[in-house]
Order: sequence, then structure tokens, then C-alpha cells
Amino acid sequence: MDIHPADKARSFVRRISEGIPLLPYRIREFVRKAKENPVEAAKHPAVWGTGGVIGAILVALFIGWLGGLFVPSVEGEAGEGVSSEQALFRVQCINRDCGHGWNITEKADYDNWPIRCPQCRQKTGHRLYRCPNPECNKWVVPTEGPDGHRICPACKQPIPAADD
Ligand SMILES: [Zn+2]
Ligand SMILES: [Zn+2]
Repeated sequence: MDIHPADKARSFVRRISEGIPLLPYRIREFVRKAKENPVEAAKHPAVWGTGGVIGAILVALFIGWLGGLFVPSVEGEAGEGVSSEQALFRVQCINRDCGHGWNITEKADYDNWPIRCPQCRQKTGHRLYRCPNPECNKWVVPTEGPDGHRICPACKQPIPAADD
């Protein structure tokens, strides 16, 4: 499991915050200013003097923080939504005895097909694509054409990869 980037950023901010009492007074002074006016503080010579790299990191963090980038989100759902686009997929079970159709919400780049069908418990849930051929326009599970590209099983027209 990946550590969520926002969590990483939060623990990083926490580490930096805990380290602040150890830093020279000027840095603390700078942090205080940065909270009030991050843009002006970024131009402050202290940042590029004793502060050096730490100052620059603080500027970036605080501007991001104040800009809402690292605002702690409601646990779970909201945090997920920030980093990854969610998309709705139509799914069709290709088990002839079942034929169940349903929708799932997954990351937009989800590519772990087929998925398990909730009705017949087989791993026969395939993503449905809308056929781009205007005379067909059906929701289909694409099949592989002679040239290896995905085609519509109904009209045999190619189905492009990105059709959302
Ligand atoms: Zn099924
Ligand atoms: Zn078609």
C-alpha cells in the first residue's frame, strides 16, 4: 500500500514544526511573517541567508499550506479525491448464465479488468465501452480485431483507448 502524499506532507510539516524551536531565531521570526504574508516573506533576505534551503522549504510549505494544499482533509474519502480522479465505469458480466450489469467508481486510470461479478461471483466483469460509430453507438465489451486493436463486436469498428 502506498503512503498517501498528503499524509507524507502532513508528517513532513509536523517534523519541520517540531524542529522550529531548534532553528535560529530569525527563522522562527520568518515563519511568523510567512504565516502573515507568505509572498513578502519569500522575498525576505533572511530566507536566502541563514535560512538557506530550510527557509526555501518552509516558504514552499507555508505557501502551499496557506493556499489550502495541505489543509487536513476529512479522513478517507476527501483525501482520496484530491490526488486521484475518480471515474464511473459501466461493467457487464459476460457469464452467459448471469449477464449482470452494474457500475463501479474507480480511479480514472483503473485497468484491472476483468473484475468479480457481485451476482455470480465469477471474474467475468468487463468494462463496457460506448461504440464511437454513430450508426451503432452501443455499450459493448470490445473484442480484439485482426490487427490487435479493440473493436466493437456489433459493427467491427475500432474502439479507441480513451473514450471517456
Ligand atoms: Zn455475473
Ligand atoms: Zn459498434
